[in-house]
Order: sequence, then structure tokens, then C-alpha cells
Amino acid sequence: METLQERGIKDLTVLRAFEQTPRHVFVPTGVRHRAYEDSALPIGNGQTISQPSIHARYLELLKLTGREKVLEVGTGSGYQTVLLAHLASQVFSIERIAPLLQGAREAIAKCGVRNVSLLLGDGTLGWREYSPYDAILVSAAAPSVPQPLVEQLAEGGRLLIPLGGQDVQTLAVLTRKNGQIHREDILPVRFVRLLGQHGWQG
Ligand code: SAM
Repeated sequence: METLQERGIKDLTVLRAFEQTPRHVFVPTGVRHRAYEDSALPIGNGQTISQPSIHARYLELLKLTGREKVLEVGTGSGYQTVLLAHLASQVFSIERIAPLLQGAREAIAKCGVRNVSLLLGDGTLGWREYSPYDAILVSAAAPSVPQPLVEQLAEGGRLLIPLGGQDVQTLAVLTRKNGQIHREDILPVRFVRLLGQHGWQG
């Protein structure tokens, strides 16, 4: 994972999770020869698997210790889901596109991780049944923070979400401390849209 280190990723547990997760399993055959480039790649249905260095930045910002219950919104290929499975205790992940979720389910099974639960649905509603979550990670861009996700964030928990317009957004980290939500803006990012009841409509 030299490239990630070259791009400033220092957290050794995060780097180890990348070493344990073969990215080629998560990309379509047509782009498999590019699986280890630091670039976003198409995964079908108009969606992308994000750039590894962006995944790594996300994971560093979550500061996981291995004991957390994590909610991921936007399973996509399932790659980040498996990275999270190596870094947290339990991972709950929601995807709204059925064929993507099916592909992710198969790829995740190939990696042999057993602490992942998947749901087909609108992730802007969260997954209330297993809340609260120590970390919530949204892999698509929203015009504003979906209120159900704020409600499902545990005390001391962190919510990462790209916020802004349809073309460019800011990656924001929201933290719940003493019941209050604090927001910190980290870096400009470019993600596909979060479509749903509390996201972009149509
Ligand atoms: N992290 C993923 C990976 O490793 O492949 C990439 C995710 S891709 C950038 C964003 C995903 O969010 C897409 O698969 C898209 O279908 C999904 N998405 C968008 N809106 C959603 C919603 N309301 N609920 C669940 N998934 C959603």
C-alpha cells in the first residue's frame, strides 16, 4: 500500500485493512486491470467504487478501535464494507440498488468476513433496529444531513458525510458530544448523489 502512504495515510490499522482486502474482487471484469490504481472506477448502474485514498481518509477520520458498531450508507461494491469489517466489531450497510447489493453480497462472502449485515433500502432513513451507531459513514453526497442518521448516532459517535451541491461537496464530520452535534469540514470531495427521502429526490 505504498500509494496510500505516499498520499499521507499514516494509520497502520487502516493500512493493514487495505492489505487484507483485495480490491479486484469488487470491480467489474472490464476494469479489473485497474483495480489497484488510486482512482474511482465504474461498478455499474451509474455508480462508482471510490478512490482508495478517499476510503482511507474516511477510515482514518473514524478513528475506529475495533469495538464499534458502524452504519454504512451506500454499500456500492462492498469494498469499503469489508475494510470496515476489519476495523470495527459490527458493520450494518444499506444500498438502494438491488443488483449492486447482490454483487456486494457475493464479493463480501469471498472475503470471509462474518460481521457484516446488509439491507436493501433507503439509507437516508438509517437502520433504526440496530441503532445507536458509534460511527456512521455516508458514501454518497447529500444536500443536508439526513435527520434519522443524526438520531441514530451514539453519544461520542462520528458521522461522516459529503455535503453540498450535486458536483462538488465538502466532507463533513459530525460528532455528538453531551447530546450536542458539532460539525467540522475536512476537505472538498466529489461523490455520486444520495438519493432518498432525506437526500436528493429523483
Ligand atoms: N463505498 C462504496 C464502495 O466501496 O464501492 C461506493 C459507494 S458509491 C460512491 C455510492 C453508493 O451509494 C451507490 O452504490 C448508490 O447506489 C448508493 N446510494 C445512493 N443513495 C442511497 C440511499 N439513499 N441509500 C442507500 N444507498 C444509496
